Amino acid sequence: MSFLVDFLHQDVPKSGRKMPAYYRKALRISEAILTLYYMLGVSMYVLKIGRGAWPSILVLGGSILAFLSVDFMSARLNLAVLSALICVWFGWFVHTFGWSAGIPTTLVPILALVFFNIYEPPGRKLAYCLGLIALRVLAFAYSLNHTPLYTLDHTANHTLHLVNSLVPLLILTLDCILFSSSVQASERELALNNQALHKEAGTDALTGLPNRRTLLDTIDAFRRDKPDSTFSIALADIDFFKRVNDTYGHNCGDYTLQALSRLFQSHAEGKYSVCRWGGEEFCFFLPDMNLDQAGEAMDELHSAVRKLPLHFGDVDFSVTITIGVEEYDFQSPTKVIVEHADRKLYTGKVQGRDRVVI
Ligand code: GH3
Ligand code: MG
Ligand code: MG
Repeated sequence: MSFLVDFLHQDVPKSGRKMPAYYRKALRISEAILTLYYMLGVSMYVLKIGRGAWPSILVLGGSILAFLSVDFMSARLNLAVLSALICVWFGWFVHTFGWSAGIPTTLVPILALVFFNIYEPPGRKLAYCLGLIALRVLAFAYSLNHTPLYTLDHTANHTLHLVNSLVPLLILTLDCILFSSSVQASERELALNNQALHKEAGTDALTGLPNRRTLLDTIDAFRRDKPDSTFSIALADIDFFKRVNDTYGHNCGDYTLQALSRLFQSHAEGKYSVCRWGGEEFCFFLPDMNLDQAGEAMDELHSAVRKLPLHFGDVDFSVTITIGVEEYDFQSPTKVIVEHADRKLYTGKVQGRDRVVI
């Protein structure tokens, strides 16, 4: 008994919803169409075609209840009810009319609903599948050894064949549209989220500049794509930045880093790349620029920083930076070129700061 309860209670991610919206919709649509379809059995009885209406009335009632209770049941329980009803209908039909009029097709939508229920473990899907195959084989064997209660005439057989084939195919088509569009939407959402995450992982949170990893990737890509081209790397460090923090507060320090980052980015636009290397240090990658060209670009930037008016609260101030520039020697790894630029930066600091060393 507890096995049955466990089986019918479906584990779904704890997102608060009992089952995914697409699956609820698929069950509803399938059960609405099946309900109309089962009315066929009852109407056949009313028209005196076939005998023993109670199974078809039972199936019709069950289908209406299943349709109305989709919101209150787990996906697994609802699917179990839907499958049981189809199986009863299938059995009743074989018993009454024999293995005719395309009845085996009615089992097909169960498979689609089972396999698209993404929270169902694969083993259980396989069990469903094997169960349906077994039912189909048994029903066929039964039909071989049993004379149907009613022999359909030519027209009735053709009409029923058409209905028994078209109804499952219609359900199958609608369910597949729902499932595939849901998968496509999820894929798209996943791709967009990945893109956003990737961007976030490569961006410095405070300044919005690319981080060290992103810049190194850019340099790697350049070296790979244009191995015969030169480039330069520059490292910049804000002079006496600790004083800014100590004098005006940490928030003012953050504001300064952001203001300088905006300036760097506007100067770099289309010509070179900049990243926050760490703390109050910035790294510049100047593609296709030799030492002189890179030095010129950094001179321009250095002057722009000096002239940049900074306002925080009621404080007006300015900062200076020291920059070390190094050109690619067509052999050293990027790490070594950065080390050389860093050494020049250090030289600039020792020489009195506020300068560009090439
Ligand atoms: P120098 O001219 O020799 O570079 O002097 P400096 O004061 O700039 O250098 P120092 O290395 O002594 O101090 C760097 C300071 O940068 C210390 C650290 O608190 C500050 N800093 C690093 N990252 C941040 C940050 O994200 N925000 C703020 N407000 N300060 C930061
Ligand atoms: Mg520093
Ligand atoms: Mg500094």
